[in-house]
Amino acid sequence: MTATTHQLTGMLFGLITITFFNLFSITPEHGTELILFFLIVLFGSLLPDLDTPRSKLGGRFPFFFISYPFNWLFGHRTWSHSFTFIAIVLVIGWGFGMAVDWEWYLSSALAIGVASHVLGDFFFDGGVPLFYPFIKRKYKFFVTARTKRPGELNISENLVAMILLLSNVILGVSHIGFDVWEVILMVLTS
Ligand SMILES: [Zn+2]
Repeated sequence: MTATTHQLTGMLFGLITITFFNLFSITPEHGTELILFFLIVLFGSLLPDLDTPRSKLGGRFPFFFISYPFNWLFGHRTWSHSFTFIAIVLVIGWGFGMAVDWEWYLSSALAIGVASHVLGDFFFDGGVPLFYPFIKRKYKFFVTARTKRPGELNISENLVAMILLLSNVILGVSHIGFDVWEVILMVLTS
């Protein structure tokens, strides 16, 4: 899964979280809090691939100071693509959130992004070692898409990205409070 598709997955996870808690009348107090939430989720959605310098973030300064040694020590799709890592990030997030008096959903934002990444890779290439380091086997969906290479026309990745984009737009629009179908009709008839 490419970085862009991972960010689309992260965005969707973020929107689902916000929408779900809106059902229970839990809404962020400030718009800035919501922006911060999505920025952290988007960063979290790229974080697991800091295990390789070949990823978008991992190849850049200052992140290659992490990706090179991590990749050398553990390899790609190991620790950072597991439930263990999600749990670690969640605990760190909650600890930090308590210290700075954040709402729980903001403290969970990084872990939500990481979880979206791990789930995304479950559907791509060789899958993910969900129970690493306890069980090193990689788990994947019974059909997997292949990650798009630069400049390649890759229908499976493009299709997944399109579905994600569409879901984001539908959920995002309905979150703002518009009737999705009314908006689609408006766009189509304009
Ligand atoms: Zn990955």
